[in-house]
Amino acid sequence: MGGGSSMHGGAVIVGAGQAGLQLAVDLRQRGYDGEVTLIGGEAHAPYQRPPLSKKYLVGALSRDALMLRTPEFYRAKGIDLVTGAQVTSVLPDPGGGGSVELGDGRSIAYRDLAVTTGARARRIAIPGADAPNVLVMRSMDDADQLRARLADVTQVVVIGGGFIGLESAAVLRSLGKQVVLVEAVDRLLARVAAPELGRFYLDAHRRRGVDVRLGTGVSAIETDESGDARAVVLADGESIPADVVIVGIGVVRDPHLAEQLGARWDGGIVVDQHARTTVPGVVAAGDCAVWRNPLSPSDRPSCVESVQNAVDQAKVAAATLCGDESVVYDSVPWFWSDQDDLKLQMAGLCQGSDRRVLRGDPDSEGFSILHFKNDRFIAIDSINRPVDFMAARRALPVGATITDLDAAADLARPLKELFA
Ligand code: FAD
Repeated sequence: MGGGSSMHGGAVIVGAGQAGLQLAVDLRQRGYDGEVTLIGGEAHAPYQRPPLSKKYLVGALSRDALMLRTPEFYRAKGIDLVTGAQVTSVLPDPGGGGSVELGDGRSIAYRDLAVTTGARARRIAIPGADAPNVLVMRSMDDADQLRARLADVTQVVVIGGGFIGLESAAVLRSLGKQVVLVEAVDRLLARVAAPELGRFYLDAHRRRGVDVRLGTGVSAIETDESGDARAVVLADGESIPADVVIVGIGVVRDPHLAEQLGARWDGGIVVDQHARTTVPGVVAAGDCAVWRNPLSPSDRPSCVESVQNAVDQAKVAAATLCGDESVVYDSVPWFWSDQDDLKLQMAGLCQGSDRRVLRGDPDSEGFSILHFKNDRFIAIDSINRPVDFMAARRALPVGATITDLDAAADLARPLKELFA
């Protein structure tokens, strides 16, 4: 260990993103009695990620507007924000508490520890993937890299038909770029949404001029003599020219700190409904954490990567660190995605639904999909139908359902009147 060691009687939060910030804020709101240190590996104070693939990419939102709080806020709340500092290791004491070590050799002791390290974009393992114009979309720096290149870009290949790939494709198309989106499986949003929604987006993006290729693998990225990517080679040998390639194929989580802590890991750091890891005194929240969500049909712990999850789970983690066991994580998940003029709002978890009701005509680009399981309403996906979404968000926590499914399909019947 190099450098000095600072004694600390409080909470250290590793990862200064949406979850880490919320945890710090809630600790202070709850009157946490020790120091609160929020440590982030990025050079920036906590900022919002959702606009990165939306308004920020088109330049419609400034850097300042991305920031979640002002520098004064941290001072006023007594939150010690340390940016540009990667936590390289954690050294738990056998008797409780411990210390974290930073990349620059500093060591900070903790009484309570929170892991909010999020996730990073998965890289694609094919030849040419490390070319400088093969980009991912996770951080402000990633978005800045793409923005800096945009003026010289005519053709873009997006690899991956999940939300980030689709949002990026929509933005780039709206800027007049030629966009080819390549998805390995035979539908869009396969991991996170119902087939109807995937079909809708396929039609909607094609209508807007995105060349979507489903069931198409990629085998290599061709580079020129300068090392820049120039084309994406598909599994069938076709070569698609590209001035820039965007890879949006999901995220990976780093098990490093969990391993050092001896915390259970199952694709993410495993937590319970109190956001507790399996190590006493250590909580985790947000994209880095997985848990057995009672709303999910799977027995495996999972994570809905979203702002809602990061914020709500962080609040629970803060309550736990303050000794308040009455707070459990049982929020209904919700999510949004903006693609061109299409606003998707989702609430609940649709996985495991046995009946779906289409409310409105997808071709009109204003409709909702209602998901039911055993006659119980479990989730909604709304495109440009905020009224439906709001009615469903109110119904889900109280277990309200709809029995008249014909009425539910009729746009003339307000959804809020149908929930019983
Ligand atoms: P992160 O935001 O990833 O923050 C974790 C932070 O921890 C990072 O800054 C990381 O650098 C830092 N860190 C990691 N390891 C260490 C370490 N060892 N030491 C120090 N620091 C470390 N959600 C929605 O609900 N709606 C949307 O429309 C939407 N759009 C999105 C668009 C994009 C482009 C992206 C990337 C995400 C989007 N999301 C959206 C998801 C949402 O932003 C994330 O779920 C949320 O930011 C997760 O917050 P987090 O704090 O858990 O993780």
